[in-house]
Amino acid sequence: MTKCPECDADIDMDEDEVEEGEIVSCGECDAELEVTQIHPVHLIAISDDDDEDEEEEDEEESIVEKEKVKEEDDEEEVE
Ligand SMILES: [Zn+2]
Repeated sequence: MTKCPECDADIDMDEDEVEEGEIVSCGECDAELEVTQIHPVHLIAISDDDDEDEEEEDEEESIVEKEKVKEEDDEEEVE
């Protein structure tokens, strides 16, 4: 049984039906929870007023952009 990190309520969740990174909400306290790990399922609470979350998202986007540029460069070299 998975527990809500915010209110400690039991969350009835089938670990075969969730994916890492999926956002679920707690039925008890309505908190948004991110699935950080499956087998076993591990949840972290997502707080809206946490600036660090936004910075993490920006960082991930930058990495994706860099990889895109790299792929384009590789294609040009082949041609
Ligand atoms: Zn909860």
